[in-house]
Amino acid sequence: MKRRIVVTGGAGFIGSNLVDALLSEGNEVTVIDNLSSGKMEFLESHTSDKKFKLIETDLLEFEKLKKAINGAEIIFHLAANPDVRLGAENTKIHLEQNIIATYNVLEAMRINGQKNIVFTSTSTVYGEASIIPTAENYGPLIPISLYGASKLACEALITSYCGSFDMKSWIFRFANIVGPHGTHGIIVDFINKLKKDPETLEILGDGEQRKSFLHVSDCVEAMLFSLERSRDIVNIFNIGSKDTINATEIGEIVVDEMGLKNVKFRYTGGKRGWKGDVPRMMLSIDKIRKLGWEPVHNSRESIVEAARSLLRNE
Ligand code: NAD
Repeated sequence: MKRRIVVTGGAGFIGSNLVDALLSEGNEVTVIDNLSSGKMEFLESHTSDKKFKLIETDLLEFEKLKKAINGAEIIFHLAANPDVRLGAENTKIHLEQNIIATYNVLEAMRINGQKNIVFTSTSTVYGEASIIPTAENYGPLIPISLYGASKLACEALITSYCGSFDMKSWIFRFANIVGPHGTHGIIVDFINKLKKDPETLEILGDGEQRKSFLHVSDCVEAMLFSLERSRDIVNIFNIGSKDTINATEIGEIVVDEMGLKNVKFRYTGGKRGWKGDVPRMMLSIDKIRKLGWEPVHNSRESIVEAARSLLRNE
């Protein structure tokens, strides 16, 4: 079905890949982005498309936001500060960019009478889960990063707006998403480090951190797939792959894809990459698989394809 859709953060990594898919299905798409980490060039191919519009504004500017989203049937709310590490240095950033920004989106929707929100949450809401793979009904949720805390707060705001104002929500808890247009995360980090020093790669922690990775094409498909097939008031789904890969293995793949040889790995030590890092993460994706969705890529394939596309498009 063709719809009028808003994508906040649509100029970012996942957002721009989502916008490609939504436009290819014939939807009308308005992107709202302050271009803090997003890039115009990610949306370049759509600038002459009559069904596409970019509104450059900040979600913290409430009146502009309210006007910009008005009339859309569904709001995909992706804009956020996604840098998990940042919270330990700046304790306010995730409060403002994630919690207040999400409150503004919900409040604007309430005033405008808009009902459907899709939200991109994260595995970090589970904290250091004692059950792995971790399912959506795992609890209690005890995040250990300010980023995870902010996303859990956003989820709670969304479900309570659903309960109080007859809205519907789709909340997707992502594993690590990788692929074209990626601007942050372990692969980008390794590529940048190896460009500076092609002989030594610094790996945060002991390299044993083992997590699940998924290619952005699978991630976007999973969101759109479950949106059409789940009709509860609050629909929560994990989105990830069926396996994991560790940081050292990712280092080896990136070294290989860059055509480098004899690179020495230097570990900063400790079981975490940084304070607030969850060293083991794998999400159970049984719930979304029961709807009929399957990931095309495993963790390794996701990393290889992402590294290739990032290196190709530099
Ligand atoms: P990204 O930084 O590439 O995209 C975020 C976009 O939001 C950017 O275009 C940025 O310019 C925009 N933005 C940020 N603050 C804004 C504001 N106040 N007003 C308007 N625009 C603003 O990040 P991403 O990796 O594409 O992440 C997208 C969403 O998915 C985020 O909500 C993130 O928390 C979530 N997520 C990502 C991953 C991952 O592995 N990449 C994992 C779990 C969850």
